[in-house]
Amino acid sequence: MREHCRIALVGPPGSGKGTQSVFLGKLLEVPVLHIGELFRTNIRGRTPLGQRAYEYMNRGELVPDEVTLGMLESRLQGPDTRHGFILDGIPRNRNQAEAVDELLARNSEKIDAALNFEVERDESFRRLVGRRICKNDSSHVAHIMLRPPQKPGICDICGGPLYLRDDDSRKVIAMRWDVWKTQSESVVQKYGAERRLVTVSGIGTVSSVTERAMSALNAYFG
Ligand code: AMP
Repeated sequence: MREHCRIALVGPPGSGKGTQSVFLGKLLEVPVLHIGELFRTNIRGRTPLGQRAYEYMNRGELVPDEVTLGMLESRLQGPDTRHGFILDGIPRNRNQAEAVDELLARNSEKIDAALNFEVERDESFRRLVGRRICKNDSSHVAHIMLRPPQKPGICDICGGPLYLRDDDSRKVIAMRWDVWKTQSESVVQKYGAERRLVTVSGIGTVSSVTERAMSALNAYFG
């Protein structure tokens, strides 16, 4: 692919952004900046930022832009991001999309491609309500129906405890979908209008979606 690779994952809740980001990050050899996970780390660490984010996340709402963008800006200062990165979960509204453009433009950088995974709402609910995440490592993900762990509640990979995210309840997932429809979908349209959008189906096995995404990105970058 290319030397610099700056990608934003922009699909709806439960489309597989987090799952795919782990594999794509390894294949593209760039770090993954997962905004939701940065918030959860702050919540666990009981930082002021975490306390601020918690109430919004638990309602399925977006954390205020100044908090989110401030956190992104400081993460982007990490030297590991110099040769590219994958943004997982940002931008999620038009203001964030414009702010990310401005932030990167200061170093003559830009989002090279926005990668959108398409899934239907029903499939997203099915994935999210059954999803269980390992407390030791958020990239270890099980599903009580689709990928049940050998021992209930225990991560197959590392033996850590599995948990259900507070915002993976039906009520909060519905709120997250409202946010997607009213605020985030227009971000996808913006990237489309700017010819920076790569859309793939998010349906199928994890590895088949990764392959699909990689070949779409290869075709896009040429
Ligand atoms: P995720 O881990 O990507 O599913 O995000 C979980 C939650 O974190 C979201 O529902 C929001 O409450 C919050 N969050 C994640 N990314 C953003 C963002 N770009 N802007 C505001 N809030 C965010």
